[in-house]
Amino acid sequence: MPRQELGRKGPFFSRAVLEAGLPTELLPISEKIRDASAIVFFDLDKTVLDESYNPINLEGLRGVISKLQEKGALVGIHSDSPRRTVRQFAAMFGTNGPLIYEMAGLHFPWANKDLALDFETLRFFTGFRDFCYKAATAHFGRDARILISKTRDRNREKREKLKYPSDYQHLIMINPFRLFSFGLWAEGINSDGSTYPDAEFAFQVNDFVKKIMTQSTIAPPLDDLNWDYNSQEGVVIVKKVSSSKTLPVQTVLSLIPNKKVPTYMIGDSPADYIEDPHVTTLAVANAKDALKKRLQAEDSPLPEGFSSRIAQKEYTQGVIEHLGNIARNLEIN
Ligand SMILES: [Mg+2]
Repeated sequence: MPRQELGRKGPFFSRAVLEAGLPTELLPISEKIRDASAIVFFDLDKTVLDESYNPINLEGLRGVISKLQEKGALVGIHSDSPRRTVRQFAAMFGTNGPLIYEMAGLHFPWANKDLALDFETLRFFTGFRDFCYKAATAHFGRDARILISKTRDRNREKREKLKYPSDYQHLIMINPFRLFSFGLWAEGINSDGSTYPDAEFAFQVNDFVKKIMTQSTIAPPLDDLNWDYNSQEGVVIVKKVSSSKTLPVQTVLSLIPNKKVPTYMIGDSPADYIEDPHVTTLAVANAKDALKKRLQAEDSPLPEGFSSRIAQKEYTQGVIEHLGNIARNLEIN
């Protein structure tokens, strides 16, 4: 999505809304939120999606989401993924609630409005994407095919781009949809054009990206970057630490008078924890220990119908477990 489109749709910045309240043209947004019986957000990567970025039980998930929505809940997604990716998953899951995307962006689907951070300081990432393409071509270009990929559907992309047996041994695909973060994946190519995970090559690419990023004089310092490297899938994702989910969640909460709508966040990492007494954070069983420890140390009472803040099940199944408990609560009350 071109940057201009965001600018056209969203002259509204989250921080300004938190400070001055909602502009009148956005009032229908707050009405819908105020009238909800509950607001539930779940994370994408390693929460509702497994290590291969797929949901495990899509039908089960869609079922429990629609049940919650019938009970008046708004079900949304909180993710660091690009706006376009989050909207694609929202359509796949059938959610009706606010969508939180990269760089603390917030999309309200019923009004087709966005609230965004002032992203001037983050232009670096789009420039870096093109710089990385050129630098990687110079460095790996002799045996690697380097693409700025057009789709998250890797197989479709490969069918389109690698129609013929390949002269290349490796593939690097750079994600063009990230505006305020950077992502790519690296794989090996078989002689028939099919691809396979190549941990050694992925490691080299990750190392290369880190090197050119640290050499750049305009890059954020490494300790302000969240460097996510999945060696199994060969995926590298780099985000700025300060673009956290707290701001969009608090913006949503600021639209609820007296904070009377119960609000839940389901996640797998400490980045999914919001320091706010009105938000109940829940974890999937595969969550990072740092998040589990934090939830075990909570002294506020467990919400009704829950025996633990940590699901017994992993990934999609853990999300379904929590959503089921919330739906049962709404039936009782
Ligand atoms: Mg996650």
